[in-house]
Formats: sequence, structure tokens, C-alpha cells
Amino acid sequence: MTTTTPPGLAAGVAERALHAARAYRAADPHGFHRRHDTPEEWNRWARRARVARTIAAALQVPENSVLVTDDPHRAYRTRTGPVPGDLITVTDSATGRAWRFIPDFTTPGEGWLLLDGCPGCAAEVPLTRIATLADLGEHLDPDGDLHVADDARDPALHQPGCAFATPDSASRRRTS
Ligand SMILES: [Zn+2]
Repeated sequence: MTTTTPPGLAAGVAERALHAARAYRAADPHGFHRRHDTPEEWNRWARRARVARTIAAALQVPENSVLVTDDPHRAYRTRTGPVPGDLITVTDSATGRAWRFIPDFTTPGEGWLLLDGCPGCAAEVPLTRIATLADLGEHLDPDGDLHVADDARDPALHQPGCAFATPDSASRRRTS
């Protein structure tokens, strides 16, 4: 028996690669197109790929359900000036629900802050620390404990008078 069909594995990788490129181009056209522009851009692209691998493993989801893009609201200070922060979006293929995270600098590369509605005023805040699927589970469990991260207390993030905001948290953040 002869065949011209490539071996199954090779075809599978090529097909998945094309799908991944198209998906990334659609989801983050700006980031995808500029990734080769400068060494810094490529470095950020490669670093974000590692972020996606790490959080995918922690949350037990496929890597291709994670997208890391520029955070429109947060920047990092670097020696060469501010650069856009990472906004991590995990889309649940089973439900279509999107979960959004930002890095947790108290545990770089190992934990993240879940962006979610403040229980007091519903504003989106970095509400709780997540390092494993169990952390997310406890956050979602009505019988679980609510662990509000310090980062969530910044009054600038909340509606005026929200009880979850604590005035000293902003100054603590600034001096850290
Ligand atoms: Zn609030």
C-alpha cells in the first residue's frame, strides 16, 4: 500500500500550528504582528508564552485556552521606562467563560491575582490570589472562605464609600 498523506503526527502539528496562529492573530492582532519588531518585543512574547504555559498547568487547562496580552490599565516600571503589564485571559472551552488574571508580584511566575467583581461595589479588582485550581475552587465555593488580596483594597479601584476599600492600602502599595 502506498500513500502520499503525511504521517498523522506531522499533519496534526501543522494543522494545530496554523489554527494557533490564526487564533492568536484574531485575538491579539497588535501583539502578534509586532512580536518580531525588536529584541524587547520578542523577549516579551517569549516571556508571555512561558506565563501561558505556567498558568495553564496550574489551572489544568490546555495552553491554547490562555491568551496573554497588554494590560490596558497597568504598566510595569523598568529601567528603560514603563512597559505594558500582562493581562492573562483563560477561556473555558467547556462554558465559554473567560477568567482574567494579572501577575502577583509576591509570587512571580507561580501565582496570579484573579480579576473579579468587588463583593461591596462590583468594581473589577484584583480580588484574590490564585496559585492552583483549588484556590479558584475555594473562591467560587459559597462555603469557602473569602481571601481578599491586599491589592484589592486600593480605594482608587472602588466606588466611593465601598467597605472593601481601605485608605492605607494605596500608600502601602506606593511604598512597596
Ligand atoms: Zn468595592
